[in-house]
Amino acid sequence: MSTPVTVIGLGPMGQAMVHTLLREGHQVTVWNRTAGRAADVAAAGATVAATPAAAVAASKLVILSLTDYQAMYDILGSATEALAGRTLVNLSSDSPDVTREGAAWAEQHGARFLTGGVMTPAPMVGTEAAYVYYSGPAEVFEADRETLAKLGAPRYLGEDLGLAQLMYLAHLDVFLTSLASLMHATALLESGGVTASAAFPELMLTVTGIGEMLAVGEGENPGAQIDAGEHPGDLSTAAMMGATADHIVAASKAVGVDTGLPAAVQAYYAWVRDNGYGNDNWTRIIDAMRPQGR
Ligand code: NDP
Repeated sequence: MSTPVTVIGLGPMGQAMVHTLLREGHQVTVWNRTAGRAADVAAAGATVAATPAAAVAASKLVILSLTDYQAMYDILGSATEALAGRTLVNLSSDSPDVTREGAAWAEQHGARFLTGGVMTPAPMVGTEAAYVYYSGPAEVFEADRETLAKLGAPRYLGEDLGLAQLMYLAHLDVFLTSLASLMHATALLESGGVTASAAFPELMLTVTGIGEMLAVGEGENPGAQIDAGEHPGDLSTAAMMGATADHIVAASKAVGVDTGLPAAVQAYYAWVRDNGYGNDNWTRIIDAMRPQGR
């Protein structure tokens, strides 16, 4: 018999989770602030609870898929008496401190709590490519691992209830910055008469090539050198990369394309150069970012 699951929050992500769990044979109860958003999952077989308290009462395992943690308080603040004995798995985005506080709040009301971050777009939930970070008490994670694995491969990070969100935000840090740089590069190319449709396939060569470029040798992990405080610049130097950063800013300025993003990158390389690390590898810019670096 599959574990009954409650899903609270029916944005694109919550709906994708419900459809996946229904396909896997789970009995699913849902609640959403905007009731109309439940129509699709109800037609697929989910039970729509009348109130948040009824939704929580319906299943021992309750998954939250909301915009942020404030939404959890807004929804469950009036249902705290239903929380005792429940496992809340909050897969909503927020900062690590907020997720730790959210866990403490739920635990005060007798609930067990996991935090998590879904690392896949909604349409890919439940596919082989999907994975989800979790953190929180190991026994709580293990108790529902099998059900949670239906959403995507679980990657458990340990007891620290802030760590899953820190990892989620770290990925999104790379993702959002990369997407913004892709748009900046496209705007820059437009100034040379290159359309966005012509620019995209060219720029994707760099996007998809980064993994290979960073694996500097067979099985070598550049992170190990960063951990050891080593930044050998024998193949390329921060000074060379910094000069290119200067050129990107100059080229953008010349054609009136915004310089906010490349200027931020340029400033990191300038810090490295000004501090005498120009002959190191580009990885030295991490010291311009670390709290103790400057
Ligand atoms: P949406 O913004 O579409 O949905 C958010 C849900 O939160 C809705 O059910 C909304 O209710 C509810 N909500 C927001 N604020 C409140 C509130 N104050 N009170 C009650 N309910 C509230 O988000 P998604 O479904 O796209 O994403 C959900 C989570 O999953 C987010 O944290 C997101 O970062 C994460 N995620 C999403 C991905 C995606 O592809 N969509 C990919 C990876 C992660 P209502 O319908 O009434 O507005």
